[in-house]
Amino acid sequence: MLNLSALLEDGARKVPERDAVVFGDLRLNYGFVDAIANQVAALLVARGVEPGDRVALVSPNTPYFPFVYFGALKAGAVVVPLNVLLTAPEIAYHLEDSGAKALFAFAGTPDLPLGERAWKAFNEVAACETYIDLPATPGATESTIDGAQTLWAALEGMPTTFETVRTEADDTAVLIYTSGTTGRPKGAELTHNNLAFNVVASDGLFERDPDDPDVYLAVLPLFHIFGQTAMMNVAFYRHATLVLQSRFDAEESLSLMEREKVTVFAGVPTMYWGLVGAKGGHDIEAIAARLKSVVSGGSALPADLSRRVKDKFDLGVAEGYGLSETSPVVSFNDPRSGAKPGSIGKPIWGVEMKLVDENFDDVEGEGPGEIAVRGHCVMKGYHNRPEVNEQVFKNGWFRTGDIARRDEDGFYFIVDRSKDMIIRGGYNVYPRELEEVLLEHPAVSLVAVVGVAHETHGEEIKAFIVREEGAQLTEEELIAWSKERLAAYKYPRLVEFREELPMTATGKILKRELR
Ligand code: AMP
Repeated sequence: MLNLSALLEDGARKVPERDAVVFGDLRLNYGFVDAIANQVAALLVARGVEPGDRVALVSPNTPYFPFVYFGALKAGAVVVPLNVLLTAPEIAYHLEDSGAKALFAFAGTPDLPLGERAWKAFNEVAACETYIDLPATPGATESTIDGAQTLWAALEGMPTTFETVRTEADDTAVLIYTSGTTGRPKGAELTHNNLAFNVVASDGLFERDPDDPDVYLAVLPLFHIFGQTAMMNVAFYRHATLVLQSRFDAEESLSLMEREKVTVFAGVPTMYWGLVGAKGGHDIEAIAARLKSVVSGGSALPADLSRRVKDKFDLGVAEGYGLSETSPVVSFNDPRSGAKPGSIGKPIWGVEMKLVDENFDDVEGEGPGEIAVRGHCVMKGYHNRPEVNEQVFKNGWFRTGDIARRDEDGFYFIVDRSKDMIIRGGYNVYPRELEEVLLEHPAVSLVAVVGVAHETHGEEIKAFIVREEGAQLTEEELIAWSKERLAAYKYPRLVEFREELPMTATGKILKRELR
């Protein structure tokens, strides 16, 4: 059966000389990327990694991402991509929970000391046996981390061909960490079939000209499912060129679009705010003439923003809806086939959507109700969480935690999230995780974290705090304290002290009121 690594292998066979990945001044063709992935696969086998074993990867958007991702898949292993902003204890948690046997970590830069954090985490998790340093300097064989080996040193002597391990459709290919509706991050098990299906189904949503290969600008992080499927995997499936940008900066994105003649851009609404607001001296007309598809997802796209993007690039934004658990695309609001403003559209082919109530019973008519999804894109389940799986699945339907209405034409409109998740600048922040950390502060007696509307980030993180009686604590002190314990995208930016918090009769904090 097909191994997802076929996405890259097909390109290497048919268009070996075409650029697969562009990163700064580096241009790497399909043949080269595939050969390095083969070496990574051989290295993993040499280190005792067997089919089904987990291989963690923490890297921003650099060529290392496809090297390791496809290399691990070729070896039949399960890729565990991690967010680059995680702290050392958070990385250790993910290594433990996934049972990762190997960790590939980008060494980092002074403003992102990733290698340091990853190395610390690795040394705390005995079951993780292999650490490979992905040096910031291309080709470097000397590691800057004492005791670690770089990828380039490890690959020496490894063959550039590899017989890809046969996998079954239902074998897990990727474990994507997400908190889902509640609690600590859990690994959503996405199978080769889930991901391959979503790539093929998403492909139909883009314009395609076989004589003019596409150029994708991947600024969405590849460790998140949106960037991974909609950019990297779809681009490779289409033998397109993937231009990597490791950090969003609107001016730089526009420069790359201009220089590389980008045809497909996908981003979260925060990025679109940046693009429409950018002032630099770019030839917007030339960029717009070349662009064929612009896609938004990850959080709600305000109608006003959608209009502004259309004004600037003369192209309607297609809005997708999806989750980590659904590989991710579930529905699409496609301007080519009559999009409705403010809607997430209709389910894509091969996927069904319906609305359910809190008992998982069907809600007829307009709703509102919670979106449930069934189809080829839905994960196998959360890794090692049978009790949660029991709550989120019923007869093959998966409940998403998103509340929506449905109009008479079958278009869905998100109205709320039943889960408390905050989406700040495209990053998911789970209030419960923050609340647990904040409660560890000796001066804090009660806490509620909510998202409040923010013009460019979509939402901002705000903590409502009740202090311990007689305790002294200022906003600055608490923010500084949180910063030490939580990744930069997670700590609260706003703090408000209250005498008490609004509660329901059963003692649940009324977050809706705080918002
Ligand atoms: P993640 O697992 O990180 O992909 O986050 C999934 C969540 O993002 C969904 O459950 C929704 O709450 C939210 N989301 C994704 N796409 C959209 C969209 N187009 N509009 C509104 N919310 C969205």
